[in-house]
Amino acid sequence: MTTYNLLLLPGDGIGVETIAEVERIVDFFNKSGTAKFATDTDLVGGAAYDKHGVAITDAAMAKAQNADAVIFGAVGGPKWADVPYAVRPEAGLLRLRKDLGLFANLRPAICYPALADASSLKRELVEGLDIMIVRELTGGVYFGEPKEIIDLGNGQKRGIDTQVYDTYEIERIAGVAFELARTRNNRVCSMEKRNVMKSGVLWNQVVTETHKRAYSDVQLEHMLADAGGMQLVRWPKQFDVIVTDNLFGDMLSDVAAMLTGSLGMLPSASLGAPDAKTGKRKALYEPVHGSAPDIAGKGLANPIAMIASFAMCLRYSFNMTAEADRLEAAIAGVLEDGLRTRDIMSEGKTEVGTTRMGDAIVAKFLSLAA
Ligand code: NAD
Repeated sequence: MTTYNLLLLPGDGIGVETIAEVERIVDFFNKSGTAKFATDTDLVGGAAYDKHGVAITDAAMAKAQNADAVIFGAVGGPKWADVPYAVRPEAGLLRLRKDLGLFANLRPAICYPALADASSLKRELVEGLDIMIVRELTGGVYFGEPKEIIDLGNGQKRGIDTQVYDTYEIERIAGVAFELARTRNNRVCSMEKRNVMKSGVLWNQVVTETHKRAYSDVQLEHMLADAGGMQLVRWPKQFDVIVTDNLFGDMLSDVAAMLTGSLGMLPSASLGAPDAKTGKRKALYEPVHGSAPDIAGKGLANPIAMIASFAMCLRYSFNMTAEADRLEAAIAGVLEDGLRTRDIMSEGKTEVGTTRMGDAIVAKFLSLAA
């Protein structure tokens, strides 16, 4: 049996508590012989700053480079509000994304039937929702140069950001979206603003050409990103996979997130290019939420986003589709049973803490395996 190497980076706040639940699932897999994982753990974010004066050490980066997948908790908190910018907790995550070349951010928006009433939209619009937003993560306006504020000398200043995409960046993110669509409902909607942006014109052309060249079996649609935002709240179930750039993806994935209820429910994956020799992609899996300093250390955190991120890891890094399906079904099952952490609590349900929710998911996973 292949041994998969996982690097666990719990980080700060509830990152530590929620990753502990993933560790228990990993232990369960190892003991039951379902799979073989070797885990290593290191510091990132404020915890790394406190010990080493940086948000992630070179040694931890080397481990991340060598791991089959990185499982990341969360970073940050008020304790580090005043540390120098270059070593702020978030710098650890940004370095991981950059050095591992994680250009594709996958954010599923799944609405569990048991939580449909927690959405800001009507139940019938969101119940059973299952869409995937594929956001380009390492290019576009967040990284383009020039990026500066210049003094115009007349009492005015000018803030400049540059939206820039090269063909290869669009081709590779489109490829990820088309490949994902093939494992789902085979539909991709590409979003840009070709009506007002040259980068949008190129985005549209390259996605169209990539589709024609290698993915013509997948259904492709184009939509202006503003219309896409509107459609996401009007009738979200029309989408399967949405592919878009860094800026629009940031916004649209947050909109989609709110369709599903709570931050504590949302997983994500960030993938790099396949290795030329092994075909394996560098990958980092993390919940969308932050370190939640207001509840950290109290055993109240919802571990579902973290556990669902691990399910994505099983699916996308290790091709363990059956186990990923079962873990996701176990999450849906405990929600059906009425268990809730405080962030998703509603009348008539049973409130549990982090570990009890983790226990219940493992127990449900076991019962589904039987
Ligand atoms: P947050 O996501 O940490 O918390 C927002 C609210 O949601 C809080 O009330 C929190 O209690 C709640 N919440 C979040 N996750 C939860 C969970 N799993 N279970 C129950 N409740 C949950 O965002 P914030 O408060 O804006 O930021 C706190 C810190 O986290 C900041 O330092 C911020 O920079 C950092 N942050 C880090 C990441 C990351 O590591 N990827 C992402 C976002 C924010």
